[in-house]
Amino acid sequence: MRSQDTSLLAEPSGPLPSVRPTGTVGTGMAPRFAGSGSGLAPLRRVSDEGVRFQSHLDGSRLFLTPEAVVEAQRRLGVDVIMPLDECVAHDATPAAIEVAMRRTTAWAERSARTRVGADRHLFAIVQGGLDAARRRAHASELAAIGFPGYAVGGLSVGEERGVTREMAAATAAALPQDRARYLMGVGLPQDLLRFIAMGYDLFDCVLPTRNGRNGTCFTSQGRVNIRLARHAQASGPVDPACDCPVCRQYSRAYLRHLAAAGEMLGAQLATLHNLYFYVDLMRQARTHIAAGDYAGWATGRAGAIDDGERA
Ligand SMILES: [Zn+2]
Repeated sequence: MRSQDTSLLAEPSGPLPSVRPTGTVGTGMAPRFAGSGSGLAPLRRVSDEGVRFQSHLDGSRLFLTPEAVVEAQRRLGVDVIMPLDECVAHDATPAAIEVAMRRTTAWAERSARTRVGADRHLFAIVQGGLDAARRRAHASELAAIGFPGYAVGGLSVGEERGVTREMAAATAAALPQDRARYLMGVGLPQDLLRFIAMGYDLFDCVLPTRNGRNGTCFTSQGRVNIRLARHAQASGPVDPACDCPVCRQYSRAYLRHLAAAGEMLGAQLATLHNLYFYVDLMRQARTHIAAGDYAGWATGRAGAIDDGERA
């Protein structure tokens, strides 16, 4: 956010509201630090009014309310606005999960009463911990309010993959068929194909860029670690089935050389390929959904991709 926008988050006057120093807000994701029992001083305080926290960049005190979060995104010009939400740790007590669900619903309602602007869409975020019944209940509660799309937060944060699937399925079943569904924090290409089959439309993940920076390329035949010595003389592209600018112009040997030499260009090219691979995979998925043969196509593609680390 640019400096002129920080007024949206300015510290208000008045007494500090009641606090609850655990959990994470605003990202749909579970806390990574300063959570319950971490032994670290809390950097944020969550109340029904919003979230008070200290910037990790300059120490300034900031206060986020549901209204300020919507307004900040409206000014940024986003297409989809994500409301403030509260996500509990994966080992949260049932009581803590219930508090976070109630607060997330209240914040979604307050967000819905805030001006979002033309051509912008306010989604809701479903929480509920790792409890299928609570997931269904929260999805139904938010669906009754009515949003153009629904995000599923608090998953893919370290729990077993089977638990992720179970929670994602339980939530999807309780969401409206004709509204967008966004599974936050997922994931590997083969996971995307499987969650699309479950009814999900949108995803976000650091994998294509973070793995690209580390020299791991996603390909039609699984992952390729471009740093390995076996690619030193490989004249073919990263993925023969890919027609991205990187695969059309550069060899595995060149990318391996860049990675071995520590050249930033290597990370940039691998990232460009990975982003293209993900976008192209989603483009193919849309084509096969429209053609009515998604299930068979996705099973084959997921099987080809999901063969672990390759070189
Ligand atoms: Zn490529």
